[in-house]
Amino acid sequence: MTPTAALQAALSDLDGPTIGPADPGYDTAKSVYNAMIDKSPALIAQVRTVDDVVRSVNAAREQGVLLAIRGGGHNGPGLGTCDDGLVIDLASLNSVEVDPEARTVRVGGGCTWGQVDTATGAYGLATPSGIVSTTGVGGLTLGGGLGHLTRAYGLAIDNLLAADVVLADGRQVQASATEEPDLFWALRGGGGNFGVVTSFTFRLNDVSRFVGGPTFWDVDHGDTVLKAYREFIPNAPRQLNGFYAYVQVPPAPPFPEELHLRPVCAVVWAYLGDEDGARTAMAPLLDAVPEPLLHGVAAMPHAALQSAFDALFPRGQQWYWRADFVDTIPDAAVDVHQQFGSTLPTWQSTMHLYPIDGAAHDVGPGETAWAYRDATWGSVIAGIDPDPANIAKIRGWTVDYFEALHPYSAGGAYVNMMMEEGEERIRASYRGNYARLAQVKAHYDPDNLFRVNQNIKPAGQTPTQT
Ligand SMILES: Cc1cc2nc3c(=O)[nH]c(=O)nc-3n(C[C@H](O)[C@H](O)[C@H](O)COP(=O)(O)OP(=O)(O)OC[C@H]3O[C@@H](n4cnc5c(N)ncnc54)[C@H](O)[C@@H]3O)c2cc1C
Repeated sequence: MTPTAALQAALSDLDGPTIGPADPGYDTAKSVYNAMIDKSPALIAQVRTVDDVVRSVNAAREQGVLLAIRGGGHNGPGLGTCDDGLVIDLASLNSVEVDPEARTVRVGGGCTWGQVDTATGAYGLATPSGIVSTTGVGGLTLGGGLGHLTRAYGLAIDNLLAADVVLADGRQVQASATEEPDLFWALRGGGGNFGVVTSFTFRLNDVSRFVGGPTFWDVDHGDTVLKAYREFIPNAPRQLNGFYAYVQVPPAPPFPEELHLRPVCAVVWAYLGDEDGARTAMAPLLDAVPEPLLHGVAAMPHAALQSAFDALFPRGQQWYWRADFVDTIPDAAVDVHQQFGSTLPTWQSTMHLYPIDGAAHDVGPGETAWAYRDATWGSVIAGIDPDPANIAKIRGWTVDYFEALHPYSAGGAYVNMMMEEGEERIRASYRGNYARLAQVKAHYDPDNLFRVNQNIKPAGQTPTQT
């Protein structure tokens, strides 16, 4: 029997369906968010229970087939799928249990953030995530989690209290500050390298009074706004977050028609408090720069801001990413931003600078696997377009922008916003934490079963072994 046939036989009676190339629905089941990624697994296990996960992990290990774990499927380089191997699709592990008294939420490993935000938002509570609600909790959290609540409440991993994990040998463990503490340390930033997380327990925080929305300026003011922003945000109160961006105004309501597709620079704000407080907190920046074209900031539920960009970024577009951590933004870097930010190759393409300070700086670089605690921003450049004919165009702009900007970066990048860029880039992104991660990997996954990810090689392996 071939390994694939043995895999199919071993998993034929899972609670959830298994889908192979000959089955109806295979093309839909194998697709991931980024349409540039088109991989063909031998089998997709749409697991429904933790026992399904255990059996799938055991089968992949025993048959020696490549194993990919899919949470929300949003990963840029498509690390939630693989060619010829087994994909464990966690989407049906999507329970959300809120404990408003304890201020915790326990969520299934296949949840998307929208499912979580809706449930916790009913109590005026949230845990930090990203800026789009369709992204998976699994990948976003295990890579770190940068978003609207970073300055107030830290990264997603800073609010992680416990994780239930299926290990490479099929054992189930809980990782927390007191149980399997090395594993818990590694999960907080080390990606999907250490096992399948079947549930996450997060601390919840108050978002009952929330103000959000974008301010747009003509792109010609980009250098003025960015220079003011780089001074402003590190000194702003923690309850204010604002990420800087180059975008074209989306050609749809609620944006006024006369602004549709206009190239702009922007700050997208999130403030914990009321509108008066938000106005006061934003004033030092708004008073220092030219009049905006639009200031669309208003009181809203946190979940509304989280999902505000979902329609802009539907599944099935081509995405090409580059990222860097940034300590400072010198004038020469502002010039690079202005040059590329004012010439976006397609209307959805964008550059964001996410603040990494406030509560994210309360945690030391060695306290979790996420090493760049002293960075001030995470920059991400994303070329995006629905038309495959534009792949070369979006990739070319992204790479040229990145190469011009990289000399002004801190060295590594946020692993969740990279493509597959090689081992040196991964080591640079974990800096001084790489050696400990490799030790933890050697303990929990010595044969590197979980290697479809930004891979950390088990200590003792040479760099070229997989
Ligand atoms: C539109 C869009 C917006 C984004 N916005 C943000 C943002 O604001 N902030 C931010 O930090 N990131 C953001 N990201 C990046 C995002 O964090 C990464 O793409 C992340 O990998 C997505 O996680 P996922 O579960 O959806 O992806 P998947 O492709 O399913 O998985 C990504 C990786 O995580 C592993 N993984 C996923 N779930 C589990 C699990 N339960 N157990 C073990 N391993 C698992 C997978 O094996 C894979 O290696 C965004 C991405 C997109 C496409």
